[in-house]
Amino acid sequence: MIGLTLHKHSEKAIEVSFKELTGKEELGLAKFGGTEMDEMYWLLEQIITDISSNDERLKLDELTLSDFDLCVSHLYEQLYGSRVNCEVNCQFCSDGFEFDIELSDFKKTIFLDQKNYSRNKNGDYISNKGEEVFTLPKVSDLKNLKECPAESWLKQFLQQGECHYEQLQEHIETAGPLMSQDISADCPNCGESNLVRFDLTRYCLQSLKEEQKFLLKEVHIIANKYGWGLDQILSLTRSVRRQFAGFIIADNKVLRAYS
Ligand SMILES: [Zn+2]
Repeated sequence: MIGLTLHKHSEKAIEVSFKELTGKEELGLAKFGGTEMDEMYWLLEQIITDISSNDERLKLDELTLSDFDLCVSHLYEQLYGSRVNCEVNCQFCSDGFEFDIELSDFKKTIFLDQKNYSRNKNGDYISNKGEEVFTLPKVSDLKNLKECPAESWLKQFLQQGECHYEQLQEHIETAGPLMSQDISADCPNCGESNLVRFDLTRYCLQSLKEEQKFLLKEVHIIANKYGWGLDQILSLTRSVRRQFAGFIIADNKVLRAYS
């Protein structure tokens, strides 16, 4: 799978290498059971082969939550393309409606104001007027969130300066935006604007779980045709497995047409 470069134009660029999903991860996800963050963390840990910045190797835990979400976006785009189809029920008229989110546009929008912050040599973010210096929460910081109130949890990221909780929250959300956001979507039936929670991790996990039935069917028809064992078939990359299954289905159609 193609790699991802985070913070491309900075001195702190991070290279993330991925391997392609196999049936083992797809099936493992179904059995996993945990929060969506736990599931996604597990999945990324299985398929990310290397994270490095200036020849220093990093762990997934050490990425900021914003960078973690960009890895999720990369995975989603590699699997399903850049468009996310969302289905919601209108809060006003209860009609169901669909809309699409183009991930490249979405990222452009949420990262638009990141440029208002400069970074010091440690990589800390500096507010526009230079009054506040702060870091972004990392994946490992989520563990302490359960143990203390959100307000004091957030304060640990302020390195310099004084600012209110709300102001610090805004700084962190702007400098390190997440791929889960409240967005507005207009209902085509009644025209009202709905506030909808868009959460890419959830969409990505849901899409993979919905494909479980295809995975088992693909395993079944490949095992039937070639006599390979379950372990062997689940070790195939997702794209190779799908191609084999596709060949077998096409052969069967030809056979049926001539019989
Ligand atoms: Zn409506």
